[in-house]
Amino acid sequence: LNRNLAAQPTTIFTIMSELARQHDAINLGQGFPDTEGPQDMVRVAADALLDNRNQYAPLTGLPELRQAVADASLRFQGITVSPDSEVVVTSGATEALAAAFLALIEPGDEVVLMEPLYDTYLPVIRQLGGIPRLVRLEAPDWALPLKALEDAFSSRTKAIVLNSPMNPTGKVFSTEELDFIASLVRRHDTYAICDEVYEHLAFGAPHVSLMTRDGMRDRCLRIGSAGKSFSLTGWKVGYVTAAPALTAVVSKAHQNLVFATPPNLQRAVAFGLNKDSAYFTELARDMDKKRLILSSGLERAGFRVLPCQGSYFVMADITPFTQDGPQSGMDDVAFSRLLTQQARVTTIPASAFYDPNGQTPPPRNLIRFAFCKREEVLLEAVARIEAWK
Ligand code: PMP
Ligand code: GLN
Repeated sequence: LNRNLAAQPTTIFTIMSELARQHDAINLGQGFPDTEGPQDMVRVAADALLDNRNQYAPLTGLPELRQAVADASLRFQGITVSPDSEVVVTSGATEALAAAFLALIEPGDEVVLMEPLYDTYLPVIRQLGGIPRLVRLEAPDWALPLKALEDAFSSRTKAIVLNSPMNPTGKVFSTEELDFIASLVRRHDTYAICDEVYEHLAFGAPHVSLMTRDGMRDRCLRIGSAGKSFSLTGWKVGYVTAAPALTAVVSKAHQNLVFATPPNLQRAVAFGLNKDSAYFTELARDMDKKRLILSSGLERAGFRVLPCQGSYFVMADITPFTQDGPQSGMDDVAFSRLLTQQARVTTIPASAFYDPNGQTPPPRNLIRFAFCKREEVLLEAVARIEAWK
């Protein structure tokens, strides 16, 4: 057995979703919408199934989806992309990330990442013999620590991972921050893996890709997810956009991991990406409304809610509950469990988004709520917490 992999704990999303089921709790932990995605897309997928679209798709993706990804890159980010040589369709952003790491990392290579971080990055990097260099962003505003980031780069740096809009903080990186990151990537002649799965879920300033910044066009591997852009998380369709020299190697990784992604879903995602801009504006507007409903409800219930500019998630400080009284001294993990068991509302303890082998202990006062749920569900969750506290 591979001892590192065997020792890896089950993901917090599965643990908390299972606990939610056991206690019949409202699941604001794992980030998935509780409504169906666009029905016209579902119909295109169903029609494609019945239209004998059931054999292997081309390795790098259906031409119509690669064209749609390229068109969307130009429409939303002003980036011109060749659909033939610069797009690889993957089975979700999860596979895209793994393929990007496989494409870049050799043993001993350093990878710069920002904590708190999404939970698949570190295990895959370490499996490949990569060495993570972690830079911590601090609550409540998660500002980029310029000096620490600069110090994390070295002659051994192969890449930086940038997740914007960011899970779990809800931070959307500013163009000034992107330019600073770009300057380091240029100076150290490295790559950037850009996890942009929440690209259409920015609520204030629009999301800007690092790929648009000076000198970044051919250094970035930009990753998107149809799951997030169309509220179809179960479909697991993602895409990587990068220069031909990079996609050539990402394709080799994809060839060994999955080889090809279901063609009927690819056809439907192509249809979705070609929707007019009103769809994408409405998606963000609708999600922002949900964010406001949950954030204001949580404030009323006694949490200190952190600012959020994008993604499905908002962070809340539990200190008002844990400084005295029955939850006195509880950490985020114990508090999340208690909230599921007693209030029947499930969240994710934010310490799960920090390196388990890290030197500095993670903050223990933050929990993450997903707001990608129907309004009545969000209001019921708040009502349950108010009745419990
Ligand atoms: N990156 C981030 C930051 C995410 O939150 C997620 C969540 N699902 C993924 C990647 C994986 O996306 P997918 O479901 O398309 O694999
Ligand atoms: N991205 C989702 C989240 O952060 C979870 C996806 C998963 O369960 N792997 O909640």
